[in-house]
Amino acid sequence: SSLYKIESWGSSYFTANAAGRMAVRPFGPDTKPNEEIDILQALQKAMEGDVLGDLYPISPLIVRFPDILRDRLERLQSAFDTGIKIFHYQGHFQGVFPVKCNQDRYVVENIVEFGKHFHFGLEAGSKPELLLAMSSLCKGSSDALLICNGYKDAEYVSLALVARKMKLNCVIVLEQEEELDLVLDMSRKLSMEPLIGLRAKLNTKHGGHFGETSGENGKFGLSCAQIVGIVCKLRRRKMLHCLQLLHFHIGSQIPSLPVLNDGVSEAAHIYCELSLMGANMKYIDIGGGLGVDYDGSGSAESDMSVGYTMEEYAKEVVLAVKCACQMKGVKQPTLCSESGRALVSHHSVLVFNVLCAEEKNGHSVGDKGLSLEVGGTLPEPLCNLQECLASLVRVGNYESALEYALCMKLSSVNYFKKGSLSLMQLAYVNTVHELVAAMLEKKRCEMAAYDGVYGQWHKDAAYNAIYHINLSIFKSMPDTWAIGQLFPIVPLHRLDEEPTVRAILSDLTCDSDGKVTTFVGSGEMNTRATYMKVHPLQEGKPYYMGMFLGGAYQEALGGMHNLFGAPPVVHIMRANEGGSNMGNLQVLKVNNGENIYDVLKGMQYEPLTMLETLHLQLQNSAKDGDSHEPEEAMSALDCSFFSSTYLSTNNLPSSVGST
Ligand code: PLP
Repeated sequence: SSLYKIESWGSSYFTANAAGRMAVRPFGPDTKPNEEIDILQALQKAMEGDVLGDLYPISPLIVRFPDILRDRLERLQSAFDTGIKIFHYQGHFQGVFPVKCNQDRYVVENIVEFGKHFHFGLEAGSKPELLLAMSSLCKGSSDALLICNGYKDAEYVSLALVARKMKLNCVIVLEQEEELDLVLDMSRKLSMEPLIGLRAKLNTKHGGHFGETSGENGKFGLSCAQIVGIVCKLRRRKMLHCLQLLHFHIGSQIPSLPVLNDGVSEAAHIYCELSLMGANMKYIDIGGGLGVDYDGSGSAESDMSVGYTMEEYAKEVVLAVKCACQMKGVKQPTLCSESGRALVSHHSVLVFNVLCAEEKNGHSVGDKGLSLEVGGTLPEPLCNLQECLASLVRVGNYESALEYALCMKLSSVNYFKKGSLSLMQLAYVNTVHELVAAMLEKKRCEMAAYDGVYGQWHKDAAYNAIYHINLSIFKSMPDTWAIGQLFPIVPLHRLDEEPTVRAILSDLTCDSDGKVTTFVGSGEMNTRATYMKVHPLQEGKPYYMGMFLGGAYQEALGGMHNLFGAPPVVHIMRANEGGSNMGNLQVLKVNNGENIYDVLKGMQYEPLTMLETLHLQLQNSAKDGDSHEPEEAMSALDCSFFSSTYLSTNNLPSSVGST
């Protein structure tokens, strides 16, 4: 498990168990050994108990652990409660979850339910998000906040006012100056007073991956001048008492405490000024940005990690707000955060299988090369290059030999284009190049010392295999492709065996970007790796992997490249009433994912009409005598519309390990 740095990025939620399989610790550090959940074993048992129908072993599969969600929520609340206590802060913390991070009904409803006793609320950034937040919060605490961010039209504003009518604590946060007129007009029409917040555009900017959101040239928020203008207008309209909240967001993954302190202090002073100008200020909403340690380095220097813990983050916020309020003699506000990533990243695991492996410049290529015929005499310049190459190979100088092989390969294309080289000769030259590359690779591997201290290979060792995985990067880990996001990926079993293959992962889409080539590094000094260590595939046995920390944004951002649909979702949690009771576990299939019918429908096709057309065509072909058995073809067609968009594998998971 040290090879995959599970203990570093796992925040105590994941571990390799004694059976060499990945296990989930649903209550983080408080998890007792008998509460650990062996992921594959739980799925296998559920399959045996027929809970999953024919889903498993078809992958990919999103496996959610609602207990982790509960734990993250409670950890966040308790981090702020502790900070408030330590610094004798005169207010309390009341967070909201930005639903854009994961709009899944169960995720949102779980958050509302688990956070009800500490009045946890929701944040929406659009009309559909507002509607789902409104209906979810009907079951939540009546004190919970419902924050309305994002650009707004009259319909959005009136929905937010309807939420107020329903006694939801709904705050309309103005992102643009023009929104104020809309809010004032709609409130007058509906004869009700709005709760207004302002989103400030801070000068504080962070240099991390997501820092573009912030700073004076950031896309969102109101400048100081606009804020003052709004205050004056509200005062003139005798509605300054409606202004109660100040919001800002300096970007996701805030790298360090000094950056956080800068932003919160700047905003806290704006908050105080607003209060001193006569607004009825009650809440400071610090936005999102609480980071996740994707690479396990815990370092502010890494853009895949942050240099603080959740507890340190909370203390920094409390102290910065308290200092500003004390200095300006303003009552300390309720602290609100819109942490998304830090709340939901850990709670789900994407399970997928490896379909096959391909050796990079594989040694099998070597065998092929030896048996391949030249097919006649090569043109003289190529012959000369080949002779030099052969003598370099004889003395073991594969580096220089590869240069000659490449030169030979490039010139052979020109000869071929001119018609003076046969296809067989071209194939021969290409194979010679692959053979020399394989020899060099083999030599490098032999030379690459395995560093026992750091458990890593010499940095020159490159990947030597491509593992083809049964998913779409664009659907299930879009940030990998879009912004180079790193997610920890670990085999879910065989962790007690030495992984001897250095692989990159390639997905099902016919797109060369559909691959994973950056991984969590295995050594202290090397937090990134250009390959991951995996086990050789075994004939007839499945090989499962998990992508971790992908519970935020990935499901919402996933695209339909090649029409691979949303994977099915399974929940694994502590047993209570209902579901399938498997010892102390409950496994529920909550959705089947999108099948071929669903994805076609999503592209405006009418699958049933398509089916009729195809049936008719088959029948007509049969009449013409082209097809003798149309029934079989028809039933294959019928089934295909309702099957998975992913590849089905016949491997049964019995080889996953003894249970
Ligand atoms: N609030 C706002 C306004 C945002 O734009 C975002 C996302 O960037 C968030 C909250 C959530 O941020 P995070 O997931 O980093 O906590």
